[in-house]
Amino acid sequence: MTRELNIICNACKKPIDDQTGTLWVSNPDLNNYQDAQAAWETRNTMTLPGGAEIVVVNAADLIDHPRRAQWRAHHDACHGETVTTVYEIQAHRLKTWADLVSWTAHLMEKDWLGDTDWAPLLDAATRGESGTIVPASVPNLNA
Ligand SMILES: [Zn+2]
Repeated sequence: MTRELNIICNACKKPIDDQTGTLWVSNPDLNNYQDAQAAWETRNTMTLPGGAEIVVVNAADLIDHPRRAQWRAHHDACHGETVTTVYEIQAHRLKTWADLVSWTAHLMEKDWLGDTDWAPLLDAATRGESGTIVPASVPNLNA
């Protein structure tokens, strides 16, 4: 199958070739986001007369909204972090748009997907922007 997508290593900024790297998100990053999100909601919750609670936010509250857990990509040789609990996708299993749709369908079964930056990652890929998942037709300006 012809490669339609490149996964760009966050460390060296070069495409990850077949079987030499992963796209991954860590459980510690997920847990940190979920804790920060819960604290943010608590800070911004207002109790209405009658006891109902609503989250009320203004522009300043949106600025300090916690950042979702980040999907990262590394060649095996560039992977400097020791993180034992990760969800990872081997680069050779994400080469085409069909692969990306299939992985997205699979990940949508995970209750934590919305706590990651998968949606903006897809959005950037479909717009052909430089980033972590890039159409193979887009020159790698970082290399
Ligand atoms: Zn690398």
